[in-house]
Amino acid sequence: MRRWNGWGEEGVDAALPERARDLLAQLVGPGTPTTDVRLDDVVASVPASRLVDEVAWTTDARDRVLHARGQSLPDWVALRSGRLGAVPDAVARPTSDAEVRAVLAVAAQRGARVIPYGGATSVVGGVTTRPSDAPIVSVDLGGTSGLRSLDEVSGLATFGAGTTGPALEAALEPAGRTLGHYPQSFERSTVGGWVVTRSAGQESSGVGRIEALFAGGHLESPVGPLDLPTHPASAAGPDLRQLVLGSEGRLGILTDVVVRTSRIAPATRVNAFVMRDWDAALDLARSLAQRRLPLTMVRVATPLETATTFALVGEGRSQAMLRRYLGWRGLGPDQERCLVLVGLSGATAVVDAAAGEVAKAVRERHGVGTPGVGRAWRRDRFKAPNLRDALWSSGYAVDTLETAVDWTTLPELAADLGRTLRHGLDADDERVHAFSHLSHVYPTGTSLYSTYVFRLAADPDQTLDRWRRLKRAASEVIVRHGGTISHQHGVGADHAPYLSAEKGPLGMAALKAVVRTFDPDGLMNPGVLLAPEGS
Ligand SMILES: Cc1cc2nc3c(=O)[nH]c(=O)nc-3n(C[C@H](O)[C@H](O)[C@H](O)COP(=O)(O)OP(=O)(O)OC[C@H]3O[C@@H](n4cnc5c(N)ncnc54)[C@H](O)[C@@H]3O)c2cc1C
Repeated sequence: MRRWNGWGEEGVDAALPERARDLLAQLVGPGTPTTDVRLDDVVASVPASRLVDEVAWTTDARDRVLHARGQSLPDWVALRSGRLGAVPDAVARPTSDAEVRAVLAVAAQRGARVIPYGGATSVVGGVTTRPSDAPIVSVDLGGTSGLRSLDEVSGLATFGAGTTGPALEAALEPAGRTLGHYPQSFERSTVGGWVVTRSAGQESSGVGRIEALFAGGHLESPVGPLDLPTHPASAAGPDLRQLVLGSEGRLGILTDVVVRTSRIAPATRVNAFVMRDWDAALDLARSLAQRRLPLTMVRVATPLETATTFALVGEGRSQAMLRRYLGWRGLGPDQERCLVLVGLSGATAVVDAAAGEVAKAVRERHGVGTPGVGRAWRRDRFKAPNLRDALWSSGYAVDTLETAVDWTTLPELAADLGRTLRHGLDADDERVHAFSHLSHVYPTGTSLYSTYVFRLAADPDQTLDRWRRLKRAASEVIVRHGGTISHQHGVGADHAPYLSAEKGPLGMAALKAVVRTFDPDGLMNPGVLLAPEGS
């Protein structure tokens, strides 16, 4: 069973390896663990619902607590401390379009607000219940899960929006097909959530981001349904799918999602390389992104992330052997090395030829292949988030943030962001360990994905305050350098104040007008995507 207040499975040991504990003690100080509140105690103290049980929903206290939060750092602080602030007044579990329509209608009659709830993996406050004068209904889409139809001739598959990654791939696999969308949250996030947050999978360089995979579907809005046809291409004016992509529940509830699937490729691999320094790694990544190769991904860790990754997940002996091997291959100092992962997929001969071209590009820049590391990364890639549980239990908060910029802007932005995060808690005399990687590369630019770790404070409000200051400072750096406020996590409530810097006044007015058209009475997900007026 999933932890109610974390990421991993209940009962699975979330201890931090000793090596990692030592490293963090050295970098930010010894961990300062706090005591977690018990679920039963939170449920016992939950305020009374402002709604009554209806056919459309339940007001069960436990259910309401379990739907109060997602996976952002403020969500974690709330769930671990029991200071939830607000919980939904009711939880609905519709299983059909008609039931979704009924929930929206009853919510409107009761003056309630609605928060669509997919896998609840939002890290930007997308499903977070905030204090509100109006009652809140969380609409859990788990009951819509499943494959509705598969058109094998066209490769189009229709899924209920609440279908999670593993269920979706398992439904396609017998037909030899795949969607190939693998966000790190794959095991828990849903296809509906992916669409409305403009998600990027780890292998999106191959099949494309969810924008490219979303063929059409069905949305239930407070003023009526919207059907999105699956034309392979169209010149019939603006594409309405683009309104739904990234709408984050503000326009209504996406109930059906039609996706473009592809045949499972005969050959898929991830090869790992170590480059002698950041400049060589960047040059390699840019050069690969600008060629026409069957890439699924190029992932480049900064020297600090490379060292941290090896310390967090590696075993002492194999680490030492790898270090000796890299030294023997003339790779220069440990602390400057960068790990690069390159994914390829396609027909076997095409992948073999591309792998040869990648290896040549690596050799030309004096990099070295590290056999086995890429395979291990692919095997364990969805386990990495369990480290969040382990870090928290050891007294550390960890959060991530991401952006995308042109290649020319990257070096300055990356340096400024790293500096800002590392010194963000100087006033508290606390250190921050911050490191980054490029998670997705494009011909004209790249994403930059940063992780930062700091110590928990004894008072949860102080931990929250530390996070707020770091998040604000980092977001301001991103905006100042012209980066997008989100490459993949979406806007939610946490990024909403920064959206106008990117869209401009006319753009914001247009977005608000669209939201008003679908939801004139402001029923849907208030505070998400568009910051409340005057905030
Ligand atoms: C450990 C971890 C790793 C992650 N890695 C990635 C990654 O690699 N790539 C990436 O893109 N993201 C990643 N994320 C972020 C998150 O998983 C994505 O934003 C994901 O798309 C959210 O899907 P979900 O089903 O969990 O949506 P939720 O979190 O349930 O909801 C997200 C938003 O969409 C709305 N919503 C959900 N379903 C619907 C629907 N059917 N109709 C209308 N509105 C809806 C919600 O109200 C909310 O505003 C990660 C998150 C975590 C915790």
